[in-house]
Amino acid sequence: MSETQDKPAVMTRAIPAPVTNVETQPFWDAAKDGRFLIKRCTPCGKAHWYPRAICPHCMSAETVWEESPGEGVIYAFSVMRRSPTGPYAIGYVTLDEGPAVLTNFLGVEPDALTIGQRVKVRFQDTDGGPPVPVFAPI
Ligand SMILES: [Zn+2]
Repeated sequence: MSETQDKPAVMTRAIPAPVTNVETQPFWDAAKDGRFLIKRCTPCGKAHWYPRAICPHCMSAETVWEESPGEGVIYAFSVMRRSPTGPYAIGYVTLDEGPAVLTNFLGVEPDALTIGQRVKVRFQDTDGGPPVPVFAPI
């Protein structure tokens, strides 16, 4: 192998189109504009992920959409090195607003990820659906 082939590549991954519904449509509409939305509960004030109508902290139905910068830190991750399409990584990001997001880490070399690393959302196109949020180091 040449030196070029030994160098780790930036991870990419084809992601299928997400299933959308009435409850999550505002999220996907914003994603098409490159905006990352989360939900926040009015009575208890806590943000939550994934977006849903009922607050998972206090069960209130008074939740509102909020635009997030989509920044946080890596809580945990795992690199899948033996993939037929090349290595990719999934894991949890703890958003600055508090919720944990299960996500793909793309556009970064596999060995460049660390626990506690600052990351930011970006959107990846899907085949026939809205783009999905993925994360990469800032
Ligand atoms: Zn609540």
